[in-house]
Order: sequence, then C-alpha cells, then structure tokens
Amino acid sequence: MKVLVINAGSSSLKYQLIDMQTEKVVAKGGCERIGIPGSVLKAKGNGNEKTYEKDMPNHKVAIELVLHALKDDGIGVIKSMDEIGAVGHRIVASGEYFKKTTLVTPDVLKTLEEKTFELAPLHNPAAATGLRACIEVMPKTPMALVFDTSFHATMPEKAYLYGIAYEDYKEYGVRRYGAHGTSHKFVSAEAAKYLGKKPEQLKIVTCHLGNGSSISAVDGGKCVDTSMGFTPLAGVMMGTRSGDIDASAVEFLARKKGLSHSEAVTYLNKKCGVAGISGVSSDFRDLDDGAKQGNARCALALDMFNYQTKKFVGAYAAAMGGLACIVFTAGIGENSPNVREGVVEGLEFLGVTLEKNENAKRVDGIHEISTKDSKVKVLVIPTNEELVIARETAALL
Ligand code: AMP
Repeated sequence: MKVLVINAGSSSLKYQLIDMQTEKVVAKGGCERIGIPGSVLKAKGNGNEKTYEKDMPNHKVAIELVLHALKDDGIGVIKSMDEIGAVGHRIVASGEYFKKTTLVTPDVLKTLEEKTFELAPLHNPAAATGLRACIEVMPKTPMALVFDTSFHATMPEKAYLYGIAYEDYKEYGVRRYGAHGTSHKFVSAEAAKYLGKKPEQLKIVTCHLGNGSSISAVDGGKCVDTSMGFTPLAGVMMGTRSGDIDASAVEFLARKKGLSHSEAVTYLNKKCGVAGISGVSSDFRDLDDGAKQGNARCALALDMFNYQTKKFVGAYAAAMGGLACIVFTAGIGENSPNVREGVVEGLEFLGVTLEKNENAKRVDGIHEISTKDSKVKVLVIPTNEELVIARETAALL
C-alpha cells in the first residue's frame, strides 16, 4: 500500500507518497503561495523534478495538482488514484479531544473544526482546509489525522498540569500538550533499536532542536514530560519564540509597548528568541557566523539556547531518575556540532562524555557522538516525521 502524507499550512502544502512495503518515499514535493499570486508546485518522482507554475487559488486546486503530478509524464509514480491506500494528515494540536491517530469521519471533522482551531490558530485551520480539499478530491480514500500531540498523551497529570485553579483546567483545557510528538516518538524508538535495547529498558532525553525546539523525557518508550506547553511557544527559546517567560512580564511588556493581549503573544512568537537576543537572525548558521566574527549578542543567543536546553536535559534526568541516552535531532540538532557540544558540556557528572572529533563529523544516518565508555550514550538521529505519519495511518487501517 502507498500512503500519501499531507502537511498543510495556511499558504503551503507539503506531501510525500510512501510505499509502506519498503517504507521508501516514492514521490514528494510542495505547493507554495496557495491563494497568493505566483503559486508554484515543486514535485519530485522517478528521480526527476518538475516545477508547475500554476494559479492555485485554494487548497483544493493544490491537491488536484499534486495528484496530477503523481501521475504526470516524467515524474509520475502511480497510474491510478486507487494505488493510494490512505492519506495521513499532520495535525499540530488535538487538545484533549483526540489522544491518538484517528480515522476521519464527519463527526471527527466537526470536532477538529469546532474545538481545536483556537488551540493552534495558525496551524489547525490550514490543516483542516487541506483535509477538506483532499476529501473532496479523493472521497473514497480513507483519511487519518496524526497529531503532533499524541505521543505526549502519556504524560502524568503532575507533568501536564499548570499550577492554575483545577476547575479552570477542567473547564478550558489549559494544560501542557507538547508538540513535535511524531519526531520524539521516531527518534526515541530509533535510539532503542540502535542501542539494541527494548524501549521499556531505556530512559531517554530527546532534543528536537529546529526552528521550533522541544525536549522530551521518554521513559520506557513513553513520554513522561516535554518542554512545549499549551502551545508551541513554551520551553526553550527558539528561532523567534521566547520560550518560557514569567506571565507577569508579558503583561508588563504589553503595557509598556502598548500591545493588546494577542499582539503581545504575536510579539513573543515572532520577535523574540535568538532573533530577538542577537538582533541578527533566527537561523543558527547566521548566529555561528556572527559569533565567529565577534558579535557578542550572537554568542549570547547561542549561549542562552545551549544553557536552557541543558537545563531541560538535567531536569528530565532527575524526573526519570536516570538517563541512558540523549538524542539530538531536527535542523539544529542534526547539523550543529557547536550546539550539541554546548548542551552536553558540564553534564559529565551525569555520566555524559562527548567524543569531540566524532561530534564534529557529518555522518548520514544515526551517529554516536559519545565516547565508548560514556555511561550515557549521545546520538544524532535524523528525524522522519512523515514516516511516522505514514506508519500510523497504515496501522489504523
Ligand atoms: P528545522 O525547523 O528542523 O527545519 O530546522 C531549521 C533550522 O535548523 C534553521 O533555522 C537553522 O537554524 C538550523 N540549521 C540548519 N542547518 C544548520 C547548520 N549547518 N548549522 C546550524 N544550524 C543549522
């Protein structure tokens, strides 16, 4: 069976077609500028690439073009739509309405649209638009919702509750939900496989460090805590997101800067993080360059990021009562030896020893960067969220 994985944003739509027998990607691509002049689909398949510059006023037209590309001359990989057994849709937030991957029915669609949009106003409405477009174009194909939050559904109450009135948690669902769950799930399972252990035997801290960053404590294969919260604004500072901040400081800043509540949250999401501290960029490559050229604020932004990440590693080792492995993944985790070194530096007391030469190397696939005798293994593992979505979708059927 082939599973089509869809990741729809407000003006974009990324896809991968995965053959579940081999778990290989047979076609992939993305539409950009949907609903904006100059929309384009860049598609790959059969070892070829093709660019479609075509007006895409909405997601339905985008999906139709993707399905056309999957059959098109040169890059086509299927002859008929029947070859697509199911579609898995990435959904950022589930609230408490969905705990696991869910087959789409009219009721499910209603709950998604009526209950979850306010939990992820940038992401969930866009995903639902993509989903509706898919249903229209492929009405007979089963669709699954795969949530970024599902892997974190195993967190105990003491980890996911905030110290607010319990009645308000019950009434409004304000609690920690986490994010990047498919990534944390994938890399923690890959780490267990690599170490030749059952997930139940391991206490792992997974560091998904990318444009958005989150850290999870995975004990016995289950997530027991994670750094992102009610929304993906919480935890460590990120490219442009502030990470954790005293709520009173937000009110104070809003008053001083003359911002409304929602403008203050936009400010925390878009103008802060390493971009705000450095005043240079949200991209860690630019920060590395800046720091090398003596820009003190670039160096400070990197220092703060490493320090905050390190604190989560230490906190989660304490929360789990041990640590067998630290995993780095995503854009920064997979590509920045400096960040990896900065994060684990000083954790020798926990039994973490980095092999610096190994850490500096660029290696395809899983890469062990701790010394042979390091009590805690440190691994770099490329994440593959699409494969998790495809697996979950196939398993549901
Ligand atoms: P992601 O959100 O996982 O796609 O990660 C994107 C981020 O990874 C970018 O914003 C960069 O900050 C970071 N990144 C990518 N390549 C490198 C690199 N070679 N060194 C440092 N950071 C990198």
